[in-house]
Amino acid sequence: ITQLVWLRNDLRLDDHPAIAQAQQQGEVAVVVCLTPEQWDEHHESPAKGSLRLKLIQTLRQQAHELNIPCHVLPLRRFSDCPNALLTLCQEQNYQQVWWQNELPVHEAQRDDNTENHLREHNIECQRFAPDLIVSQPVLNQQGQPFKVFTPFYKRWLATLSANVQSPYDLPNKQTQGEALPNEFVIPSEQSSYREDLWPADYQAIREKLWHFCHTKEALYDELRDFPAKPNTSLLSPYLALGAIGPRACLEAIIYSASQDNRDWHASVWLKELAWRDFYKQLMGFFPDLSKSLPFKPETVNVIWNNNEAGFKAWCEGNTGFPIVDAAMRQLNQTGWMHNRLRMIAASFLTKLLLIDWRKGEAYFMSKLIDGEFAANNGGWQWSASTGCDAAPYFRVFNPTRQSERFDPDGTFIKKFIPELKSIPAKNIHNPSSAIRDQCNYSEPVIDYKLARQHAIAAFENLKKEN
Ligand code: FAD
Repeated sequence: ITQLVWLRNDLRLDDHPAIAQAQQQGEVAVVVCLTPEQWDEHHESPAKGSLRLKLIQTLRQQAHELNIPCHVLPLRRFSDCPNALLTLCQEQNYQQVWWQNELPVHEAQRDDNTENHLREHNIECQRFAPDLIVSQPVLNQQGQPFKVFTPFYKRWLATLSANVQSPYDLPNKQTQGEALPNEFVIPSEQSSYREDLWPADYQAIREKLWHFCHTKEALYDELRDFPAKPNTSLLSPYLALGAIGPRACLEAIIYSASQDNRDWHASVWLKELAWRDFYKQLMGFFPDLSKSLPFKPETVNVIWNNNEAGFKAWCEGNTGFPIVDAAMRQLNQTGWMHNRLRMIAASFLTKLLLIDWRKGEAYFMSKLIDGEFAANNGGWQWSASTGCDAAPYFRVFNPTRQSERFDPDGTFIKKFIPELKSIPAKNIHNPSSAIRDQCNYSEPVIDYKLARQHAIAAFENLKKEN
């Protein structure tokens, strides 16, 4: 074997362009680098870390069955990768290393440094476009990146329609039987995620995708916004770690649409996947996004509140706004939060508490099992009105109205706030002081109307200064 494919947030063997093409040249091995110190610095959650290890275990087993050597290198940081990969190549006599590029600044630097180091030692690198549905840069007529989603999406869809790719098959079984190289044992510490919610089994993950596309995708637009019964795919942890590939999602969409005579181009779920591509591509075009800077430079001057008590109440789900608290408790207890609630919770923190979006971004990342830098940064900057194609600054979600609209009978609230279990729906969205007292549930940490005015003023002052 002379070829090594380096897997990062694309932890799978099927629907993998680098593996598929490498195998056309001969037999392949794969490698994963563990860089826990770096992931900690990026605020990645223990839940995501545990799921990653489980997925690597699945990957190793599958690779073993196909006689594909699967190395796992226990390192600390991205900067350890160049040397470790060189040593592996020299020991095993691998002459080419293949991978799919990642765009955020630290990842891109890691990749460039690795390429330079390997080339200096006469090892070839084959770098592929990022792991997206439309992996080539989507640009406007002036050759510039789009700064607004809708025109991006139109161009994205046109590019996709002109070149629909089927997922790549699982690699062929190789002839050289090999024992599992360098014994890799998952640390015995308690697994820190809900294994009942997030299986790491290859087949189970693919069944989730197909089941969703067969039963829910057609009604996604209508049903997706109600957190009590999440009619979304729940695939985000697998997409974040790459346990499922983008072309595999596309194939399931096209197939399901064809089964009931729908036009797949109109799929609203596909449009959500376009958001994923949009935010990931932005990371490549705008390196400032990787440096904790806002997309809109003028918003660097927003004066955020340094409100530790408010932040703590938000993190713990004790703001006294039931929908916000239920959302935060869902995050803390399951490692996942429904998209509508992510928007409500983020708007609450950045607008009503006027707390710096970067604090919320880091807290989400530290809890989410699907924490993904581009989507999380994009979602936070959208909510804080600092981002690319963000919500206008005067758009402040009213948590009570949102709650009445998207959790009308309070089912979701009751699931995560047992204190309010016996409160009738009409009172649950904004309980009276008497009810709060009786249920031992917090008073609101802010006055909605006043807080909204402050938030809008903070952004308006900015305009005056400029
Ligand atoms: P579905 O509705 O089934 O969507 C399918 C897939 O499309 C998702 O799994 C995801 O990969 C992608 N997707 C959907 N919406 C978006 C979006 N707005 N931006 C980018 N990709 C999207 N998503 C993450 O994957 N990781 C994050 O860390 C993350 N942080 C967020 C933070 C905030 C403040 C907000 C507002 C949104 C965030 N999102 C994030 C986007 C979205 O909330 C989740 O992708 C979605 O809730 C995951 O559930 P699902 O897999 O059932 O989604």
